[in-house]
Amino acid sequence: MTIRVLSVASEAVPLVKTGGLADVAGALPAAVAPHGVAMTTLVPGYPAVLAALPKKAKAVHVWPSLLGEPARLMAGDLGGHPLLVLDAPGLFVRDGGIYGDAAGKDWADNWLRFAALGRAAADVASGAVKKLGFDALHAHDWQAGMAPAYLRYSPAGATVPSVMTIHNMAFQGHFGVDRFPGLGLPPEAWSIDGVEYHGGVGFLKAGLASASAITTVSPTYAREIRTAEFGMGLEGLIRSRGGDVLGIVNGIDPAQWNPEHDPALPARFGLRTLAKRAVNKRVLEAEFGLEPGDGPIFIVISRLTWQKGMDVLFEAIDHLVGVGGRLALLGSGDMAMEAKLHAAAARHPGRIGVRIGYDEALSHRMQGGGDAILVPSRFEPCGLTQLYGLAYGCVPVVSRTGGLADTVVDANIAAIAVGAATGVQFNVVTYAALAEAIDRTMGLYRQPEVWRAIVRAGMKSDFSWGRSGKAYADLYRRLTESA
Ligand code: ADP
Repeated sequence: MTIRVLSVASEAVPLVKTGGLADVAGALPAAVAPHGVAMTTLVPGYPAVLAALPKKAKAVHVWPSLLGEPARLMAGDLGGHPLLVLDAPGLFVRDGGIYGDAAGKDWADNWLRFAALGRAAADVASGAVKKLGFDALHAHDWQAGMAPAYLRYSPAGATVPSVMTIHNMAFQGHFGVDRFPGLGLPPEAWSIDGVEYHGGVGFLKAGLASASAITTVSPTYAREIRTAEFGMGLEGLIRSRGGDVLGIVNGIDPAQWNPEHDPALPARFGLRTLAKRAVNKRVLEAEFGLEPGDGPIFIVISRLTWQKGMDVLFEAIDHLVGVGGRLALLGSGDMAMEAKLHAAAARHPGRIGVRIGYDEALSHRMQGGGDAILVPSRFEPCGLTQLYGLAYGCVPVVSRTGGLADTVVDANIAAIAVGAATGVQFNVVTYAALAEAIDRTMGLYRQPEVWRAIVRAGMKSDFSWGRSGKAYADLYRRLTESA
């Protein structure tokens, strides 16, 4: 029997993306389809999303007042799978980013915008739209966190089971107590096992407390968030949910990330045509103003934040250049960090190239031409750039945390001996550990046979959605059968 799941997220590829959440929300419908799950995705109607709707798109439902805002539900298409768009112009149509203004300041009404998304999702999942029935609801991150709570506190109680997925525990959607009346929840929702969180309202907290099951995006991160260091205040709740918390590692979408068919690459390549990577490396050198050479090019594709260890990377730049490395970095985020990076590039002309901004096609060219991708994250729920690196023969050099620990096999002697090594791991995110990892990478690169074996093992590893798609489907099935 087909299980019908409503997946609700604040971003989804190819419509709108600011990070890995969008990649996952966009890939999930195809990942679960082979396992008997028909997934419909609900996203907010930002301008870019509305513009992608077919001209004849029809409203399938209308809310005269969704938490005070007129809203309607439009039907569309997400890569061949059903899409629902919450068209509420007062909430989602504005200039700037999807979470904040052009200067990066969060929208003051984010609580209302994403409460409305949650309310709409709960309504739709429990059958508000006559022709659209669902067996389960799947909410992603704090922006969708209120959906399981609205389900739970609806007058009829939760009519379908729900899954709450944590893509990043660092973002929790925490708002003041004064927002509670505006949420339209019954008074009993204001409780320690409801939406209350440290005297305010916690959207992710509400989802975690209300969902039938919780998942996060790697087994190691599922363990880490039980501790104060990674749980960020929610570790007690996570521990109390015990066996309901599951780690399912993200896959990569082969339609977007396959070096043999990637239209963004100057030269496409596969395991048998690895030599063609050299063409991409030359293009990359030119694009980043790097002096041509045989030594390795390290790449970084990242939000420029503390989480991603960019401050430590910055400290290690001189060392990287000193031992003969070159660096091509694409990132955006912290303005002070951007200025420092430009200064480093000016200090090492031809050795460091920096591009500030968000550029999807460039990120593909970097994976296809770079030799090693540095991911020195302090915490990393799953991480996608190291997976893209593996698939593209760009060896990941990663900190041993979260999904990075689960997806990269460190090139220690034993792993090299059996041909299992796919990258380099280091333990703590410090200058000394990163510098040592860079040294080890340089040493491996100087042994062409060993390096080739690492590249090939990475390209052969299976990070398709196969196994993880089945894990989600099994979870939905278990929940719907026991509901
Ligand atoms: P997070 O979601 O925490 O930012 P992930 O590694 O899970 O980290 O996903 C990041 C996604 O965003 C990847 O698809 C990566 O290629 C992409 N990305 C990050 N920064 C940039 C950038 N400046 N330009 C293009 N793509 C980027």
